[in-house]
Amino acid sequence: MADRKHHRVVIVGGGTAGITVAAQLHEHDPDLDVCIVEPSSKHYYQPIWTLVGGGVFDREVSEREEADYIPAGATWVRERVAAFEPERNLVRTESGAELGYDFLVVALGIRIDWQRIPGLAETVGRDGVVSNYSYDTVESTWATIKALRAGKALFTHPSTPIKCGGAPLKICFLAEDHFRREGRRDAIDVRFFKGGGAIFAVPKYAKPLTEICAKRGIETNFNWDLVELRPSKKEAVFRSLADEGERVESYDMIHVTPPMGPFEVQAPLGNEAGWVDVDAHTLRHTTFPNVFALGDCSSLPTSKTGAAIRKQAPVLVANLRAALQGAEGTSSYDGYTSCPLVTGYGRLILAEFDYDKQPCETFPFDQSRERYSMYALKAYGLPQFYWNGMLRGRM
Ligand code: FAD
Repeated sequence: MADRKHHRVVIVGGGTAGITVAAQLHEHDPDLDVCIVEPSSKHYYQPIWTLVGGGVFDREVSEREEADYIPAGATWVRERVAAFEPERNLVRTESGAELGYDFLVVALGIRIDWQRIPGLAETVGRDGVVSNYSYDTVESTWATIKALRAGKALFTHPSTPIKCGGAPLKICFLAEDHFRREGRRDAIDVRFFKGGGAIFAVPKYAKPLTEICAKRGIETNFNWDLVELRPSKKEAVFRSLADEGERVESYDMIHVTPPMGPFEVQAPLGNEAGWVDVDAHTLRHTTFPNVFALGDCSSLPTSKTGAAIRKQAPVLVANLRAALQGAEGTSSYDGYTSCPLVTGYGRLILAEFDYDKQPCETFPFDQSRERYSMYALKAYGLPQFYWNGMLRGRM
């Protein structure tokens, strides 16, 4: 007989989204019976990995104990969910335990598919192949940028959805800036390859980004997906998404943003593409009304960022709290997301926009211009805001 427990609310995933929701629920009702299922003993502030890869911070600044962010009174099941059974209102963990729920919040994040590119999984973190997309590899980015004296530096952005759509370009800008400051820029060819067809989805920010690339001599290549690495020859193979065949590029360093996708385990709750299928405004599941989702695992058609979760969480919590009372919540999410586009050391364009790709900026000045103040906000303000505000249910 399987071990079986029941909770009023089960939250699957204790990353940015899961902990933010748990903290807000706790702020409203400290006695609510909430269970968080999260296997990791560490919590990561991933947005700072861009600046770790650029040598501004050590990776340790991004890591804290998960235990310190589980709200008082919540149950923490330190396991992975192995199956969702929404018809039975339960999830099953890897050890076989069953967790029943009245309401479920899915906050699993996104799966990183290192294996999908032959040659990547076995080389990432060494021999010039680097990535900011994991705690284990992020330090290799800075070590490699720092050591490169001459040659070709490639930066990739896959055609799959990814978390933080600006991150592949940000590390390209930082590396280029570093090469320039060290007097090596003329000896290093900097190239950016993107599976998509444009540098950024919002015209207001795409324009200055395009101008910066042109001014700084960064070669941009669109509709090209990295499909293979040949580490022994230091070659990267790209495939055109515009019927132009394949292209092989040599590299001295390559920063890879790996392909990503939804976790298979969430398939019973997924849409055709596998993302947890929720209403774009209420964040409530389209088939199972006692299920909600937010963040990277969700079908919400906006870019996948922590900043988006900051606006999604209060909407989800309001609608979930209404549902807990047997009422229909009326809170609505407008697709807000933000991308602090680091364009160099001490410079940043703060993109903020909604589902309609309309800018919705916080500050009373033109955020499409590079500014030190916005860089300082990302480097020094937002991490504090994250650890002490968002994860504590205060924002
Ligand atoms: P996560 O925070 O990834 O949490 C998912 C959690 O689910 C994890 O703790 C995981 O252990 C757990 N989990 C996974 N599988 C299971 C399972 N089977 N059972 C139980 N638990 C499971 N965002 C910004 O807003 N601004 C930025 O500048 C920015 N820059 C970024 C730069 C980089 C390099 C990266 C990697 C990310 C960046 N982001 C940025 C994106 C941001 O970090 C993510 O969008 C955000 O963390 C997503 O939150 P989440 O809760 O959906 O997923």
